[in-house]
Order: sequence, then structure tokens, then C-alpha cells
Amino acid sequence: MSGQWQGEVFETHEISLVDEREFAPKRHVRYIEKFTESKPSPSASNASRKFRAGVLGATGLVGQRLVKLLADHPWFELTEVAASERSSGKSYAEATRWHLDTPIPRAARDLTVKSLEPTLDCDFVFSALDSSVAGEAEEAFARAGYPVVSNSKNHRMDPDVPLLIPEVNAAHLDAIAVQQKQRGYDSGFIVTNPNCSTAGLVLVLKPLADIFGLERIFVVTLQAISGAGYPGVASMDIQSNVVPFISGEEEKMETEPQKLLGRWDGRRFVDAGLGLSAHCNRVPVLEGHLECVSLSLKKVASVAEVREALRQFEVSSEIAALPSALRNPIEVLDEENRPQPRRDVNAGNGMAAVVGRIRECSLLDMKLTLLSHNLVRGAAGAALLNAELLASRGFFDRRVNAHVEATSIAN
Ligand code: NAP
Repeated sequence: MSGQWQGEVFETHEISLVDEREFAPKRHVRYIEKFTESKPSPSASNASRKFRAGVLGATGLVGQRLVKLLADHPWFELTEVAASERSSGKSYAEATRWHLDTPIPRAARDLTVKSLEPTLDCDFVFSALDSSVAGEAEEAFARAGYPVVSNSKNHRMDPDVPLLIPEVNAAHLDAIAVQQKQRGYDSGFIVTNPNCSTAGLVLVLKPLADIFGLERIFVVTLQAISGAGYPGVASMDIQSNVVPFISGEEEKMETEPQKLLGRWDGRRFVDAGLGLSAHCNRVPVLEGHLECVSLSLKKVASVAEVREALRQFEVSSEIAALPSALRNPIEVLDEENRPQPRRDVNAGNGMAAVVGRIRECSLLDMKLTLLSHNLVRGAAGAALLNAELLASRGFFDRRVNAHVEATSIAN
């Protein structure tokens, strides 16, 4: 079962244990079985059958999206939220300036916001922390044994940390063993997702790289204000305006794709060796980053061939089985004035990259426009998909098994 997205929420049906085993990853089934063995009473609730997730930075824009996406998730349950000293000790509802259109999920409202001490009661953590604190906090959690699924920029380019888009470079997860060995981590590790504008770009570049080969990419972004967190850009700076500078963004867009489209050779990441140039602009749009891309290909290709390559991009059956995955994560629109943020940002419930205006380029070979949801495909949804792949490949097992053993001894 790969689930159905409804609006922005992943909607699942009430599931019995038997149903859950039908779609849970093999190792997750073992986790369910262990739990039911060690806690045979009917009080073995859903909580003990799902991976228990914590969210660091849960009160921020990305953290809120994660809290929302975790409500009713078939494999994960939110058990802990953490943020700054300003928020810790308060209930989640009290501490959070909630920005989404639907109410705070019931399971989150009354959770007490904790500080960044790595003593949370969960099997793994998402990190949606401000980058001023994310670096050290994520390391502390990994050192304490927590798998860390991060949104923040701090560790993305570390030579032993996977920068992951499951549809693009799942093989990079092999770096985790090296990371654990080099850093002396036990069950803990750090995996990151890319910057919000890189996420959509690389998803679209992937089939083109595979089929035609890529040489050079020139990209101009028009990025939404929600990409800057809350309160983000002052309204007097962005109203009726465009700001042609986003600190650090062009550097991220010029380096992260090299790692994502490169390979892990068993010891280190080898860059893709692309020529890349990015111009990044902030525009008065609430959600959705639009990108105008020109690129040159190694093989000659027609507009029709490029369109078909994008339209037919299909993920492997392993990835398609993840609850948040789309089998075809690229949507191609034929209308000459699409994609548009207001109309297309929620395509694939925010997990699709929407492409339009594919045409020949008079400087490079081809040009196109793409759009992706910065808070979903570019942040919370990306982290969730990463966590699903990690869970299905058994990367949470070591910590989970330790917890199961400790629980059964205590009982
Ligand atoms: P945000 O709205 O500013 O939220 C920041 C979060 O970090 C809040 O929960 C905040 O807690 C917490 N925090 C700040 N200072 C802290 C401290 N000293 N100790 C502990 N917690 C602290 O930012 P955001 O947009 O959600 O972004 C979160 C992270 O994801 C950032 O690293 C960002 O670069 C990255 N990211 C964002 C996007 C996007 O589109 N927005 C996309 C990709 C990646 P309090 O509420 O208690 O202050």
C-alpha cells in the first residue's frame, strides 16, 4: 500500500495490525512483532507499533509541516517536539504560532516542547532547526544514538553525510556506515535533504542526466517568502518588489546538485562535474519556488524527447512503495503559461516537480520552467520521504531494538 494523499495531509485509514503488516517494510514488521511479543497485552497501542518520531525545531515553518504530515502517518508517530528556550516547557499549542490552514493535529497540541537535550523518547528525530543551532544539536543527537533526518544546511556537504533525494541517489545511504565508523556513532547518524530550490531542480535534472547526460546548467530562481522561515522578509521589503539576493542560496544551488547527481565510491562522494550557474531572487509569492532553467546535454535531443523523458520518469518499485512517494514525481504541463505557483504548487500534494515551457535554447540546448513546493518537496515532505526510505532499509533498527530490549527488561 502506498497510501493516498488528500489535500496536504497524508490520509490513511484506521489500520489493524494485520493490515499494517501488508504494507510495512519487512524490518518494520519485525519491529511490530517484537513489540507484540514483548507486550502481548491489548494495551500495546499504535504508539508501540510505529516508529516514534521527534521533531527538533517543531515550532518553525518546516517543523509545523512535519507535525502536520506526521499526523496519521502509517509508519511514524510523533512523540516529542523540541525548540528553543523561548518555547520549551510550554505545550506545543501554546508555543507555536501555527501557520497552516487546518488545526494543529490533536496528537501534537498537548505535547510539552522540550529543549535540545538529546534525551527525547523517540526512535529518530527530524531536524528543522535554525542553522545557527542545527549543526551542534544534530551532532549531539547522532552521538547519543538517534538517527537524525535533517533539513538544515549545516551538514549537507560533509564528506560522510548523505545528501539525499530518494528518487535520485538512494545508493548514497551506503555512506552511513562510514560516517558511523569515522565519528564513533553507534546507532546514530545524520542524513540531510537539499536546499529547497535545489530539491526541485535536481529531481528534474535526474532523468535528463540518465538519458542524455548533462553538461551545463544555468538557472534563475523566483523564490517564495516562506523559504526564509517566519517572519522571513519584512513586508515592506517584499511587497510589490523583487529582491535579487538570498544569502548563501546561489552557493548551495551550485554545489548541492554536484553531490546529489554524483556518486558514492565506497569511501567518498565524487561530484557530478557539472557546469552550474544560479541567480536567486526572492519574489512576493507565499509558497512555491519557480525556476527558469537553460541546459546543455551530452547527446542531441529534441524537445519532444526531453518532454517524454521527464513525463515518463518513474521511480523504482522500492521508492514507489514509500508512503509519501509519487510513482511519477515530475508533472509536465503543456499550457504555455504554466507552471504557476498559485495554481500548481500543490501538484502531487506538494511532492511533484511541475515542468512546463520546454523549448529550444538559443545559447544552450534546451530551456524549461519548473516549480516545486519549498516547504513540502523542498523541506518537510523531503525529510519525511528520506525517513521512510531509512525505515524501510532498516536504518532505525539498531536504536529500535535497543529500546525494545530495554522495555522488555523494565517489564
Ligand atoms: P523557522 O520558521 O525560523 O523555524 C526555526 C526553528 O528553529 C523554530 O522551531 C525555532 O524554535 C528553532 N530555533 C531557533 N533558534 C533556536 C535555538 N537557539 N535553540 C533551539 N531551537 C531554536 O525556520 P524554517 O523555515 O522552519 O526552517 C528550519 C530549517 O530548515 C532551517 O535550517 C532552514 O534553513 C531549513 N529549510 C527551510 C526551508 C523553507 O522553505 N522554509 C526549506 C528547506 C530547508 P522557536 O520557535 O522556539 O524559536
